[in-house]
Amino acid sequence: MEIPLVDLKEQFKLIQKEVEEAVADVLKSGIYILGPNVEALEKEVSSYCGTSYAVGVASGTDALRISLLASGIGKDDEVITTPFTFIATIQAIMQVGATPVFVDIEEDTFNIDVDKIEKAITAKTRAILPVHLFGHTVNMQRLLSIARKYNLFVIEDAAQSFGSECNIASDTFSPEWKKAGSMGDAGCFSFFPTKNLGGFGDGGMVITDNREVAEKAKALRVHGGNSNSYSYEISGYNSRLDELQAIILRIKLKYVEKWTEMRKEKAFLYNKLLFATPVKIPNSKPYARHSFCVYTIRISAALRDKLKDFLKSYGINTKIYYPIPANLQVMYRNLTSGKGKYSLPVAKKACQEVLSLPVYPELEEGKIIYIAEKIVNFFNRKC
Ligand SMILES: *Cc1c(COP(=O)(O)O)cnc(C)c1O
Repeated sequence: MEIPLVDLKEQFKLIQKEVEEAVADVLKSGIYILGPNVEALEKEVSSYCGTSYAVGVASGTDALRISLLASGIGKDDEVITTPFTFIATIQAIMQVGATPVFVDIEEDTFNIDVDKIEKAITAKTRAILPVHLFGHTVNMQRLLSIARKYNLFVIEDAAQSFGSECNIASDTFSPEWKKAGSMGDAGCFSFFPTKNLGGFGDGGMVITDNREVAEKAKALRVHGGNSNSYSYEISGYNSRLDELQAIILRIKLKYVEKWTEMRKEKAFLYNKLLFATPVKIPNSKPYARHSFCVYTIRISAALRDKLKDFLKSYGINTKIYYPIPANLQVMYRNLTSGKGKYSLPVAKKACQEVLSLPVYPELEEGKIIYIAEKIVNFFNRKC
């Protein structure tokens, strides 16, 4: 039996007819970029997330770059973030000319350890860029209070957390659940096919309540100007979202809640089956509604790669998200400011211990039982 990490074909079958008809309509319309479907998607995503504005762009990486620039962050600014993330987070900060400053992560959620943020703040700090990794939100109630205290921008990388929620109330008796991406000054989504809301190509979106940020983001995606007047005050990008992606995403948005519930069911089944094994199952904090974009277990460093190979021999495909913390990447180490600057033991250890298992809404229960069985067998064989 061959079990992929993610299977996108199954989901397509469910919506094939709807998608094919809608795509044909777009093809016939003659409007292919930044048209009515992009506009409608922006309205639908902002309404889903509870923000005033949404701006469709060409990728999640662009959503990050554009949010940073639209918030006025650039040269000589420091941006506090996590070393345990997809590299695009860090590259976006570097590409706008700012310096990423790393804060270690929490052992159980893999997210930035909010308690360690204050110590990393300097006179140059302008923003905090939390990443809601794997579908689990950062503790935003605490993070936002730090940001307010020091007057810092908050730009959320919610690329892996479309549909995740976070309780930002300090009063435990009246919870205030907010969608990932909607809590800071700007939130960034990726519509890469394997994300919770994935297109059939690249795409991304910035959401915000700040009108100025939204307007700047709209300008930045079309070279920084006004497309009617051809006057340019700032240097922007070609970062447009196309109509085909937008119509596909609009169709998939209707199912995203249901698919998130299905992901959670798969994750809970794994949790139940793996609970008594030596692997550590993912934690969900009371303040977070996990969407399980990725299902990641921990296992001792000495056994991790052996387990990966063992599962592979049974056709089970797993992946290591992420093998190297960003502060140890060559691209970062080569910056003089980054050299030898950090000791981030929790992130480093996570890189040696994590293993992500197959998870997607359509993954059959029988396959999860099979995978869990093999994991149990692995330990029985070893111990
Ligand atoms: C996928 C991802 C991105 C980048 O999104 P793209 O659409 O691939 O550019 C950024 N940050 C995180 C955490 C991601 O998972």
